[in-house]
Amino acid sequence: MDIVLSHENEMILETVRAFMEKEIYPHEEEVDRLGYVPKELGQQIEQQSIEAGLYSANLPESVGGGGLDYTNMAVVEREYGKTSHALHSWIGRPTELLMACQGDQIERYLTPCVQAKKRELFALTEPEAGSDVMAMKTNAKRDGDDWILNGSKHFISGPTMPDFAIVFAATGIDETPRGPRKRVSAFLVDVGTKGFDISEGNRCVSYRGYNNYQLFFSNVRLGPDQMLGEEGKGLELSGKWLGMGRIWVGATCAGKAERLYDLAVDWAANRKQFGKPIGQFQATGFKLADMAIGIKTADLLVMDAVAKADAGTLQDADAAMVKVYCSEMLNRVADDTVQIYGGMGLMEEMPIQRLWRDSRLERIWDGTSEIQRHIITRSILRPLGA
Ligand SMILES: Cc1cc2nc3c(=O)[nH]c(=O)nc-3n(C[C@H](O)[C@H](O)[C@H](O)COP(=O)(O)OP(=O)(O)OC[C@H]3O[C@@H](n4cnc5c(N)ncnc54)[C@H](O)[C@@H]3O)c2cc1C
Repeated sequence: MDIVLSHENEMILETVRAFMEKEIYPHEEEVDRLGYVPKELGQQIEQQSIEAGLYSANLPESVGGGGLDYTNMAVVEREYGKTSHALHSWIGRPTELLMACQGDQIERYLTPCVQAKKRELFALTEPEAGSDVMAMKTNAKRDGDDWILNGSKHFISGPTMPDFAIVFAATGIDETPRGPRKRVSAFLVDVGTKGFDISEGNRCVSYRGYNNYQLFFSNVRLGPDQMLGEEGKGLELSGKWLGMGRIWVGATCAGKAERLYDLAVDWAANRKQFGKPIGQFQATGFKLADMAIGIKTADLLVMDAVAKADAGTLQDADAAMVKVYCSEMLNRVADDTVQIYGGMGLMEEMPIQRLWRDSRLERIWDGTSEIQRHIITRSILRPLGA
């Protein structure tokens, strides 16, 4: 990482790097080949991360978390990005949405997640409502004090079968100056509740071994204490999470790009054709130069965004810019690294093809590049009334 870091940032970086070298990197190839993380391995990573103080490092000390600020978390996420989600997600970073837990919810959901006793899923996407979140069909209707939940979700991802899901559902319609708009609320729904079915979804070629689930709700009865946050404030909650999520995507992309860059530099310096290292051909050398510029720009964008998040001034467009730039930069770096390796870049024995496959997802999840560009455009034009 070629930017100025504080002493505290450096110490955290050393801890994470040592952890990754020992607990994560040795298992990458096997997990990609198997297509799943053996349960004992997942639990071992989980246990080691608790001992290293990395589990729940993102949550405040007041709830038992590590209390890292956003700047330090960016340093951590950048290192996580060098490997597969299938592995680093076992380290555990419970969603900050759980900070909205109130009363008994704290003991039932927040504290067990902080302590690695429970796992949650974030369930927003539906088969017919991907980018168009407001097309969601999942709904909850009042029945006395209770709610009755119906609908389905897909592409809901996590390292292992969860204990509960944070489910977003329409709980009514609001009239707004722009016309009728679904009122969306968030619910805490326990796996095992009558009418709630969860099963593994399609297999993804990015991050093999990182599971995604399909969720089905058929007349699931939920008590009033299962609503997370206020009724109708679900989108504000999800927006807050997605905003920071986009910055973590940016940080992980910078980390993965650096890993690919190191591999590309090594090959360009050592692979010889026409009697000299291929890096000496301008077509290869300029690729390396563009990679270095891209990674540095990505780091600066991420660090600017987390400084704003720490200062409480982060805007949606800041997070969107980080997501678009870093994920697209990573995809250029991944593709150029394959090109620099030639045929060897596509061989299963080399890590390049895996990192290339993993990179592709980053332009899609947490909101596609196109949707991020809409967010940025809106921030430019809306103040002008356009
Ligand atoms: C592996 C994986 C894990 C995931 N994990 C989760 C999770 O844990 N929780 C969760 O809720 N979701 C999750 N998602 C869902 C993810 O956020 C969505 O896939 C993503 O938001 C895109 O939705 P979609 O796939 O339905 O694509 P679509 O919305 O169908 O989009 C298809 C294409 O059309 C383009 N498009 C759509 N609308 C517009 C527009 N207005 N302007 C221009 N272009 C447009 C898109 O940019 C894209 O290129 C996950 C997805 C994957 C693949």
